[in-house]
Amino acid sequence: MKAEIIAVGSELLTPDRIDTNSLFLTAQLNRLGIEVVRKTIVGDEPNSLQREFRAALELADVIIASGGLGPTEDDITREALAAVLQRPLVQDDEILKDIEAKFQRFGRVMPQINAKQALVPVGATVLPNPRGTAPGLWVEDGKRIVILMPGPPSELEPMFIQQVTPRIEARATGARLFERALRVTGMGESAVDQAIAPIYKGYRDVQTTLLHVPGEIQVYLRLWSVDQAAAENRLEEIVERMRLALGESLFTTKGEEMEQVVARELTWHGATIAVAESCTGGMLGERLTHQPGSSAFFLGGVISYGNELKSGWLDVPKELIDTKGAVSAEAAQAMAASVRRRSGATLGLSITGIAGPTGGTEEKPVGTVHIALADSQGVQEKMFRFPGDRGRIRGQATVAALDMVRRYYLHQSTRNAQ
Ligand code: ATP
Repeated sequence: MKAEIIAVGSELLTPDRIDTNSLFLTAQLNRLGIEVVRKTIVGDEPNSLQREFRAALELADVIIASGGLGPTEDDITREALAAVLQRPLVQDDEILKDIEAKFQRFGRVMPQINAKQALVPVGATVLPNPRGTAPGLWVEDGKRIVILMPGPPSELEPMFIQQVTPRIEARATGARLFERALRVTGMGESAVDQAIAPIYKGYRDVQTTLLHVPGEIQVYLRLWSVDQAAAENRLEEIVERMRLALGESLFTTKGEEMEQVVARELTWHGATIAVAESCTGGMLGERLTHQPGSSAFFLGGVISYGNELKSGWLDVPKELIDTKGAVSAEAAQAMAASVRRRSGATLGLSITGIAGPTGGTEEKPVGTVHIALADSQGVQEKMFRFPGDRGRIRGQATVAALDMVRRYYLHQSTRNAQ
């Protein structure tokens, strides 16, 4: 089955609002085996919307429109669909009573304009909306299904899961989408592509997409199939071959975030960590505390921008800063060792670098970052030269620091295995 999503609302054509409903709906439809073949955004203009409904009915088996079901003049979705399908709108007394009751609960009388929300094209099924006034509508036209849903994501999402999914599942028989996401760090996009292209070129039925985000390359493998076991096996086969090709730069095949991988390792080893950040200003601490339960392994951190704090709070000798600079291997090592010692954590992790746009020199250009990791045996340090603007440099530095912890445990288990 193929679907089109129509986001209705003039506000979605301004720079202030973004259509997020279609992302949620696409993920849900894909899971149900329905491919989204077109998405459109239409303003609150009846003719445009009617035109789009007509085009969608030509193209797709399932059409989902979100928004424009409210009570005001500019809410035109149900009227536009009724006109296109040439179905009269009739008042549904149940809906009307329900809306009146919702207003009563808040001690208010229903404004007359809300009665419009109880209008339903003949033959439509009403999808109740416990979180708002506008109910959704499920309308069948021959083999095609048109679903109208309220705009607010807090109303649309539960309605889709509770009301729409079971109805579609009952109908869908065709292929489903099977997916794997591989995430790689420490390799550029072209290096990743070079490593895996000989593999994916041999699987024409699998769509392979590479996506670049700060600090990592994501590889998506997508396969439409009616046979779950065959599809899972085929994807598993590719994943295994890519695992070999990418080596330890591949940090997950389960779509996990880098901090989840690190959290798993720290928890598994019963270890704790503390951080000392200069150029990332807390981003490392934020990533590590992103998930619930992080207090089990994350002890805390120091954001030391001023050199006085690097000396005062992190015992980086003033002479070291004067001679080597605050952005240096030695400063990073001292920061990591000190935050570890002072916090009592198993590991101390530090970042110091030049995020730019100013502050770079010939010797230390913008993007120079030193990352150090201290344990009870000593400190390891690595220097990076990250490309991009301030945001990208800080993002890459954060991922690289987390990756240093991941590789530390990877090598530890290799050492233990030997
Ligand atoms: P209501 O009963 O709230 O009026 P509605 O169906 O009329 O429901 P709209 O008035 O079109 O919905 O939109 C209400 C709000 O929902 C918008 O201000 C916006 O914040 C959010 N919204 C609408 N469409 C989308 C979308 N495609 N993606 C994300 N948010 C959306």
